[in-house]
Amino acid sequence: MTYDYDDQNIFAKILRGEIPNDTVAENDHALAFRDIAPKAPTHVLVIPKGQYVSFDDFSANASEAEIVGFMRLCAKVCASEGVSLGDGHEGFRAIANSGPHGVQEVPHFHLHIMGGRMMGPMVS
Ligand code: IMP
Repeated sequence: MTYDYDDQNIFAKILRGEIPNDTVAENDHALAFRDIAPKAPTHVLVIPKGQYVSFDDFSANASEAEIVGFMRLCAKVCASEGVSLGDGHEGFRAIANSGPHGVQEVPHFHLHIMGGRMMGPMVS
């Protein structure tokens, strides 16, 4: 399976420093920044630094170091935002929209981490 990556997508431009972002955390393999149109008190996007279109592209083709780096950054964000379940916090929702049926707008894999309020049922 091959995936065509558009290097003009907005997250590619953020990674190249061509447009600004509100960085929350970063490591060698991933960047976390605040969503420009937050849907919850905490709404952070975590993206790999490598060129992966979607969740399945990243899962299939990223190296183990990239996957671990990405997941560790997610954990760091959840802790720093006070939404991880440890220490009596109330949790969060993590969503990866993928492709047209997932209503993915930006074709660079990203995980939405949203918390700080009750999310409601997954209805659409
Ligand atoms: P998607 O529908 O899962 O692809 O979500 C894309 C997300 O990127 C949306 O929640 C947008 O608000 C967010 N977004 C788009 N452009 C920017 C930006 O320049 N900075 C931060 N977030 C952005």
